[in-house]
Amino acid sequence: MYYPYVVVGAGLAGLTVAERIAAGKNEKVLVVDKRAHIGGNVYDSYNEDGILIHNYGPHIFHTNDREVYEYLGQFTKWDDFWHRVLTQVDGNLIPMPITLETLNRLYHLSMSPEEMERFIAARAVPLEEIKTSRDVALSKVGEEIYQKFFENYTKKQWGVDPADIDTSVISRIPLRFNRDTRYFTDKYQGMPHCGYTKLCEAMVHNKNIKLLLNTDFEEIRDDLPYKTLIYTGPADEYFHYKHGKLAYRSVDFVMETYDMESFQDAPVVNYPNDYDYTRITEFKKMTGQQHKKTTIMKEFPKAEGEPYYPFPTAECKAQFALYQKEMEKEENVYFLGRLAEYRYYNMDAVVRSALDLYRDKLC
Ligand code: FAD
Ligand code: UDP
Repeated sequence: MYYPYVVVGAGLAGLTVAERIAAGKNEKVLVVDKRAHIGGNVYDSYNEDGILIHNYGPHIFHTNDREVYEYLGQFTKWDDFWHRVLTQVDGNLIPMPITLETLNRLYHLSMSPEEMERFIAARAVPLEEIKTSRDVALSKVGEEIYQKFFENYTKKQWGVDPADIDTSVISRIPLRFNRDTRYFTDKYQGMPHCGYTKLCEAMVHNKNIKLLLNTDFEEIRDDLPYKTLIYTGPADEYFHYKHGKLAYRSVDFVMETYDMESFQDAPVVNYPNDYDYTRITEFKKMTGQQHKKTTIMKEFPKAEGEPYYPFPTAECKAQFALYQKEMEKEENVYFLGRLAEYRYYNMDAVVRSALDLYRDKLC
């Protein structure tokens, strides 16, 4: 059967476009993914003990984009969830990001917000230019706090010094002069009531959408006719690595299940300075599931493996720019999502880009 639209990748980027084409245009669309499931990295499933886990790392939906929130809300009910993270520094388990609460507990103080402003101002390093993630942290909080909270975590996560990655990475973490210990402050936050996979299943529940799983696009691309292709796989792979392999950071996700109700005091605990893993997630504390056992996940970052994070350096961006030039020459092909656009996208931003692509180019 002929499908005028082919989408490569059944992650949130691909599924959003496919849903729009199928429901908005009433056209047939084929979605191809090399994995055995839909959802891409937001895929979740029940493990052998019946605990809902996020197979590719903890996913917390948060956005200020009302349209995106409402769009996804057609496919799920949202459970309220305000994410909180603790970090282990100098033997203390204290809130992350850095807030008044964090510093008071770390330094055994009882500062007011104004006193914290003075405390930080006395330590922040004035820099003429902010060029790297190290500069971001030093200019905000100074050397000592940078070393305790950011330096080693970032080295573990990226395998390089924060001075070697661009500003966007550590800029993701705010500094707060108040007691708001939520990890995100976006207006809309939540967990899909029945999980992300169910949300994704509802998105593709349309007779115009045909799923082709366990299929690498590379193996079928020469024999696949289409009018329009939406590609959400890795950019370098699409062009057969003609400008070299793009660097990504990968992660080993290691699960452990314990015969206890609760493992830790927060959904996520970060370990900037201890162990080889960066953080531990306890899934029940995110999903609200009741179970007498509990499953945790440790994240061990690594260079090789599944591409999860585009590498945030100027060199990598310059290399990706060569691929962008190639993309501009492709006819009837649109490149979208974390891998194809080589961007450190959150879920809401990916859905926003997909809705924009549909509205501007496809509908
Ligand atoms: P993906 O989900 O990566 O989907 C791409 C799909 O393309 C995959 O299914 C892949 O199998 C398929 N594919 C690739 N190549 C081919 C090929 N050759 N043939 C066929 N199929 C192919 N965002 C948040 O908002 N909140 C969070 O808390 C959060 N936590 C995260 C934690 C981790 C550890 C990671 C890695 C990401 C996190 N994100 C989070 C980001 C979120 O996962 C992404 O924004 C989102 O999943 C990107 O969707 P996508 O469709 O662009 O890519
Ligand atoms: N980071 C850090 N210490 C922490 C948490 C984060 O240094 O305790 C840095 C690290 O470089 C990380 C970046 O901030 O890659 C972004 O953190 P975020 O929690 O957004 O990472 P993600 O959930 O996307 O992996």
